[in-house]
Amino acid sequence: MAKQSVIEEALQTLKENGFKYTKKRATIIEFLAKKNRYVSAREVHEFMNQEFPGVSYDTVYRNLHDFSDFEILEETDLNGEMKFRIHCGHGAHEHHHHFICTVCGKTKEIHMCPMDFFEGQLQGCSIEGHRFEILGRCEDCQK
Ligand SMILES: [Zn+2]
Ligand SMILES: [Zn+2]
Ligand SMILES: [Zn+2]
Repeated sequence: MAKQSVIEEALQTLKENGFKYTKKRATIIEFLAKKNRYVSAREVHEFMNQEFPGVSYDTVYRNLHDFSDFEILEETDLNGEMKFRIHCGHGAHEHHHHFICTVCGKTKEIHMCPMDFFEGQLQGCSIEGHRFEILGRCEDCQK
């Protein structure tokens, strides 16, 4: 999916959830779309503070959490810190999972879903969702 359409889709989702378009919100989304890896709230705040001097960490953090509730972002706990990345576009992408580098936050897609293996062991349960992530170090971070 092209970066621009990921951003547009994200802004559309905000609107559908009753969030007003603001330059700050759009800037956070653009920043994360460009990064395309897991980034800490601190790093997002540092960037935002350059663009909008004085913006509070709380505002940035709250936005990141709201965005991940709307599935605009994905969040994960890396080394005890919540990190965020732009959610892979809905629709345009087939269901997949990620390998996540715990050092630089870069991700790789894994086109296989382990649920196929587990469903047989969960008879009688209704499954509402699942998470599956593989953590490790990417090629660059092993040097
Ligand atoms: Zn993905
Ligand atoms: Zn890495
Ligand atoms: Zn899956």
